[in-house]
Amino acid sequence: MPSDCLFCRIVSGELPAAQIHADESVVAIRDISPQAPTHILLLSRKHIASVGEVGPADTDLMGRICAVAAELATREGISQDGYRLVVNVGRNGGQTVDHLHVHMLGGRPMAWPPG
Ligand code: 5GP
Ligand code: ZN
Repeated sequence: MPSDCLFCRIVSGELPAAQIHADESVVAIRDISPQAPTHILLLSRKHIASVGEVGPADTDLMGRICAVAAELATREGISQDGYRLVVNVGRNGGQTVDHLHVHMLGGRPMAWPPG
């Protein structure tokens, strides 16, 4: 675990966060700067710098992140109206934290194309 990685420090409990789910491979927290009424971050426990670094050993993890997203959408009451899952990758993708995470945004209509 890179000690300078913000999300590694949140996942380990070293730094506080509004945690709404935790299991052996995935931790979900509320985004500190929400861009929608519901804005959740699904974090891998394992440090992976981005989706660009996901390998064959991580396919179960990626599936687990999607399953947790679906569970949380139901719990948050946004599954009926829908929501958006976003993964920013690299500079052009707008990634600012180099630890695998999926954004779940809901509670309002989402525009397309994204900015
Ligand atoms: P990215 O820009 O890498 O796709 O997403 C990083 C997200 O992490 C941003 O939406 C940002 O608001 C969120 N974030 C940054 N620092 C913290 C923090 O300390 N706590 C929480 N809960 N979210 C954070
Ligand atoms: Zn990390």
